[in-house]
Amino acid sequence: MSTPNLPAAPKPLPAEVFDSHCHLDIMVGNRQASSGDPVAQAAQAARTSVEGILDEARAVGVTRLVTIGYDLPSSRWNAETAALHGDVYAGVAIHPNEAHASTPETLAEIERLARLPHVRAVGETGLDYYRDWASKDDQHASFRAHIEIAKRTGKALVIHDREAHDDVLRVLAEEGAPEVVVFHSFSGDAGMAKQCLDAGYFMSFSGPVTYKNAAYLREAARVAPQELILVETDAPYLPPTPHRGKPNAPYLIPLTLRCLAEVKGTDITELATAISANGETVFGSW
Ligand SMILES: [Zn+2]
Repeated sequence: MSTPNLPAAPKPLPAEVFDSHCHLDIMVGNRQASSGDPVAQAAQAARTSVEGILDEARAVGVTRLVTIGYDLPSSRWNAETAALHGDVYAGVAIHPNEAHASTPETLAEIERLARLPHVRAVGETGLDYYRDWASKDDQHASFRAHIEIAKRTGKALVIHDREAHDDVLRVLAEEGAPEVVVFHSFSGDAGMAKQCLDAGYFMSFSGPVTYKNAAYLREAARVAPQELILVETDAPYLPPTPHRGKPNAPYLIPLTLRCLAEVKGTDITELATAISANGETVFGSW
């Protein structure tokens, strides 16, 4: 890690693990980052190839990743990239912030992509009450449509839930949840974690679990059983402590995983092994 503005590589993990949620297309600059997105700009300035990102990750024990779509072009790119790289899998969806774009035609294309062998998730979909880029009506309709696609294709449903916990849980219950549900970048407290545990939903923890002001996330991680935990970066966003403000990447997973192991009082090798097994339960065999 010789580039000065990038976080140094952490100590390698004693056992392999994977990144359940990142955005390779944003990291490599397939989509030009806007000036309002300095973190994505910095990531794009530093990294230009998927292979480079994979090599950095492998060097610390992060051997696979799932790259997640947020609109139709992004979903197409991620599906194609997964087909080209052995250790890369994809999710496809229209993000809740783009829910106005969930027309019958785009949803049909998302469903077609979701059936591809390297596409292992329908996501990220869900509800975002923090941003009002799309109306609540559009978000709900799009979320429900994605739940149906996940059920028809048998792929995991990857949920973006921002300040919408109750409605996300309610819509899942109303529609009937798909067999595998993942709350990406889990943002609930211990009570929400208990509800997910009861429903058998997976909780994917990201950089914020390491943040000083996020004790509620560590409480949630204590409640979440090892069989329902995943770890992710959401790269290039949400870097773990002490790298806030810098671009995130899959090679920083060890920092978040070590925090999780410490919080849960679990041996890091045991936790990494459990998460790797969960990965195949969620995303299918690698
Ligand atoms: Zn994401």
